[in-house]
Amino acid sequence: MKQATTIPTELQATMPFEQDELVFWQDPLADENSDKSGIRVTVDARQTDAIARATYHVSDLSNNVTEVPHQQLRYPEKHEVEAWYNMAQQHLESPFEKGDVVIWEDPARDPSEWSLYRVSVVPDVRNFAPEELLTWTELMPDQEFLIKSPEGSEAGVYPHEIRKPTEEEISAYFVENGGERCPFCFQNSVEGDSVTIITGAAHQEASCYECNEEWTAIYTLTECGVLR
Ligand SMILES: [Zn+2]
Repeated sequence: MKQATTIPTELQATMPFEQDELVFWQDPLADENSDKSGIRVTVDARQTDAIARATYHVSDLSNNVTEVPHQQLRYPEKHEVEAWYNMAQQHLESPFEKGDVVIWEDPARDPSEWSLYRVSVVPDVRNFAPEELLTWTELMPDQEFLIKSPEGSEAGVYPHEIRKPTEEEISAYFVENGGERCPFCFQNSVEGDSVTIITGAAHQEASCYECNEEWTAIYTLTECGVLR
């Protein structure tokens, strides 16, 4: 049996909520399986002289808009706001995550340097007002990512300037560094495991103790040292 719940009178806001405000919606049909209570953004505040009769359109980060009466809303608490921004960071799709290996074709780069970089800082949603997060996909192209080269130089770039490397590019980096540097985090942290010989080539399982990536290093037969 579902029981309607509302915010207790002492917790109800005495002034109407403003548009774009963060509010906590208390789902009146809450039960163990269907409680949708949580933080919302007011996208359309219907002001009225009688606060108790005011209604609002509130949105979650999936842009699901719900119409709710004043008495089902309250101001969120600080820890709820913090949790909301953390959830937004997970929920809002970013084309690159921290730690991703990317290629940046810097027009000013020294051609002898690798164009491989690692994403070190992704945009933090805390820099955005709640209502801005509802249009995150439109804002995304203008957000700077911080990237770091294997040599340690840093650059701020827009998402359209970088891309994920191909397998061949990752492989080329590993080979050119003599198999000694991890092609995912660029550290001297490669560990070789067992070797299997397959007609003319040796396959070695390798991994990185810094970033835990795994790959197979493939060595080719080049000559035989004759024993006489
Ligand atoms: Zn690594």
